[in-house]
Amino acid sequence: MPKTRFQALAESQKREYKNIDESGRRSELFARQVFNEEKMLQFLTKEAFDNVKSAIFHGSKIDRKIADQVAEGMKAWALSMGATHYTHWFQPLTGATAEKHDAFFDVLPEGKAMEKFGGAQLVQQEPDASSFPSGGIRNTFEARGYTAWDPTSPAFIYKTTLCIPTIFVAYTGEALDNKAPLLRALHAIDQAATSVAQYFDKNVRKVYATLGWEQEYFLVDKALAQSRLDLTMTGRTLVGNFSAKGQQLDDHYFGVIPPRVLSFMSDLEKQCTQLGIPVKTRHNEVAPNQFELAPVFEEANLSVDHNLLLMDVMEEVASRHNFKVLFHEKPFAGINGSGKHNNWSLATDTGVNLLSPGTTPMKNLQFLTFFVNTIKAVDTYEELLRSSIASASNDHRLGANEAPPPIISIFIGKQLSDVLDELEGVSKGKLSPEEKTELKLNVVGKIPEILLDNTDRNRTSPFAFTGNKFEMRGVGAKMNCAKPMTMLSTIVAKQLTDFKKEVDALIDKKNLKKDEAVFNVLREYIKTSKRIRFEGDGYGMEWQEEARRRKLSFNKNTPEALQIITAKESVDLFKEMDVMSEVELKARQEVELGAYIFHIQIEGRVLGEMVYNHIIPAAIRYQNLLLENIGGLKEVYGAVHKKVAESQLNLLEQVGEHILEIKKLTDEMTDARKRANGLSTINKKAQAYCNNVKPYFDTIREQSDRLEKLIADDLWPFTKYREILFTK
Ligand code: ADP
Ligand code: MG
Repeated sequence: MPKTRFQALAESQKREYKNIDESGRRSELFARQVFNEEKMLQFLTKEAFDNVKSAIFHGSKIDRKIADQVAEGMKAWALSMGATHYTHWFQPLTGATAEKHDAFFDVLPEGKAMEKFGGAQLVQQEPDASSFPSGGIRNTFEARGYTAWDPTSPAFIYKTTLCIPTIFVAYTGEALDNKAPLLRALHAIDQAATSVAQYFDKNVRKVYATLGWEQEYFLVDKALAQSRLDLTMTGRTLVGNFSAKGQQLDDHYFGVIPPRVLSFMSDLEKQCTQLGIPVKTRHNEVAPNQFELAPVFEEANLSVDHNLLLMDVMEEVASRHNFKVLFHEKPFAGINGSGKHNNWSLATDTGVNLLSPGTTPMKNLQFLTFFVNTIKAVDTYEELLRSSIASASNDHRLGANEAPPPIISIFIGKQLSDVLDELEGVSKGKLSPEEKTELKLNVVGKIPEILLDNTDRNRTSPFAFTGNKFEMRGVGAKMNCAKPMTMLSTIVAKQLTDFKKEVDALIDKKNLKKDEAVFNVLREYIKTSKRIRFEGDGYGMEWQEEARRRKLSFNKNTPEALQIITAKESVDLFKEMDVMSEVELKARQEVELGAYIFHIQIEGRVLGEMVYNHIIPAAIRYQNLLLENIGGLKEVYGAVHKKVAESQLNLLEQVGEHILEIKKLTDEMTDARKRANGLSTINKKAQAYCNNVKPYFDTIREQSDRLEKLIADDLWPFTKYREILFTK
C-alpha cells in the first residue's frame, strides 16, 4: 500500500480549526506595523518628514543628512515595535520577493554592543545577490547590483524584521527587478496624464495609476499537498483522474465558507490589516477549494507591493492552519484555474477618478478623453500587453474556457459603444454651436446616467470597462502585477503624449477651441481603434477567427508571446517613455524565456519520475495481483478457467497496454528534452520545449489517468483529485 498517500489522508482527517481572536476593531489594527505618515510625524523631525513627503510627491532626492535622520526615526520606531533585524525588500526577476536580513545589533570596539542603523543602511545596500537572473546584464557590464530605498512605499515590520521596499539595479543603471521599471512607467503616466488632465482642470498636479487586484487561490490540506510530488515540485498536478464531482453543481461558488478556511481567512486578514493591506472581500470561487480575496484599490506601486506581501503572508498563515496555498494558474485539470484580475484606473491628486464621468459636460469630456485614449493605446500595443501576462503556468489558463483567450480585446458595453458611434459623426474642424449643444446635452451629457446601469458586464473579455475602471482579466494568479502594470502605464502614457501633441497642434495651427480639438482627435481615435472593441463571447471559436480577420495578434504560448518585447517598435516606445532601454528589454526577454524553459524542464523531469518510479511500479503490482488471481482460478477450474477469469484477463491486457504506452511516451519525452537542451539559442530551446516536449505531458497524463481508473484504489500512489479537492 502506498504509505505516503494513506498516511496523508489519515492526517488530513484529524484537522481541527483554530479559533482566531477577533477582538479589537480592524480600523484600530490597520497599519499598526507600517511606518506611515502617522508614525513619521511621531518619529521624524519636521525637516525629515517634509523631505520624505516631497520625495513621495515630486520624486525629489533625499540627501544623506536627512536620510540619517529618517533612519534614526525608523530605527526608534522599529525597536519600539520589537524588531531585531532590517532588510531591503526587493523584487528580482524571479517574480517573487527577496530579502536578506541584517541585525540592528552591532558590536562596538570596547566590547559593548548597541543597535545601529543609519542613512547609509537605509538608502542603499549591496546584497550579494549575484544568483538572481539578470538576463546577461551583469556579465556584459561586469556590474554589481545594489538595492535602493523606494520612499513611495512605506517600510513595515513583518514578524521581527523591518522591511524597506527597494528597487534592485545594476551600478550601470539597468533595472534588475520588476519595481524599477514600474516606478519609471508610473512616472511616465503621471507626466503624460497630468498635462492632459490640465486641459480640464488647471489645479491637477499629479496623476496616479490605481490598482485593485483580485487574488484567486486554492487551499488544499498540507499533508495531502505534500503527498504529491508534482504539487510540491511544480505547483500543479501533472496527472490525476478527474473527480466524479467537480464544479458542475456550482455548489461551492459563493457558498458558505468552510470553518477551517474561514479561520485561515480571519487569521490572514488580521495579519494583512496590521501590515496595512486593506483587505476587503473574501468568498468561495467556482472550483472546489478555490477562493478569492480582494482589497480596496490603492496607488499602483503600493498595491503591487501589497499583493506580493500578501502572497508571502498567505503561504505562512496557510502553513500554520495546515493548508498549502496554491497560486499556480492551473493546479488541477478539468476545473477552473486561478487568475488575478487587475482593476486599473487613473486618479488625480485633486481626488478625481479620470475614468469616472463627472457632473458637468467638461468633466464628461475629460472622462471620454481618458477612456478613448486607453482604448487607442491598447489597440496599438495589444501584442505588448499580451506579452506582459505570458508565463509557462498562465499558458494553461488563457483560453481554457474559464479565462479570456490570449487575444486582447476591449469590452465597453452597448451604451458606451453607442456613444462612441455617435462621436464618430462629429464634424471635422470647427463645430457649429448647434452641434456643440447637441454633443453636450445628448451625447456626452448622457454618460453619467448610462454608467449608472452599466450592468451588462461581459465576463469573457480580457480587458473590460466596468463603470469607472478597466479590468484586465488575463493576469495570472501567481504573477507579479508589476509586469502588466508597467506595460499598461507605458502604453497609455505614450498614447496620452501623442494625444496632447495632436490637440495642441489643432489649437495652435487650426485655431480650434480646446473642446473642438479634443473632439476632433477623439473622433479619429474611435475610428482607427475599432478592431480592438469586441462585445461578444470571448471564449468562443468564432472570435478566434474574427480576431484573425481583424489582424489582432494571437500568440498562444509564452515563447511566441515574448518575441514582441524586443521588436523595434517596442524598443522605441520604451525608450521614448524612459521606462526601459534596449538592454533591459533584451534582458527581460531572456530571463522570461529562461524561466519558461526551466519550468517545462522541471515538469518533464518530475513527470518522468512519477511514471518510472511510481505509476509503472503500481501498475505492475496490480498486474501481479491479477496474475495471482488468474493462477488460482486456473488451479481450481483447470481448462475452463479462461471463461471464469475473462474479466481479469481483459484487465491484465489493458494494464499491460497502458504500461507499454506510458513507458514509450515517457522515453520519447526524455529524448525530446535532451534534444531541446542541446539547442544553441535560448529562443530555439524555449520553442523546442514548447512544441516538442510539452505536448507529451498531455498524452502521458492520459495514459496515467486511464491506469488510475483501472488499478485497485489501495495500490494507487498519488492522492486522488476527489481526496485533495473535497477535504475541507
Ligand atoms: P468583480 O470584478 O469581482 O465583480 P468588482 O468589479 O467590484 O468585483 O471589482 C472590485 C475590485 O476593483 C476591487 O479590488 C477594487 O479595489 C477595484 N477597484 C474599484 N475601483 C477602482 C479604481 N478606481 N481603480 C482601481 N481599482 C479599483
Ligand atoms: Mg473582477
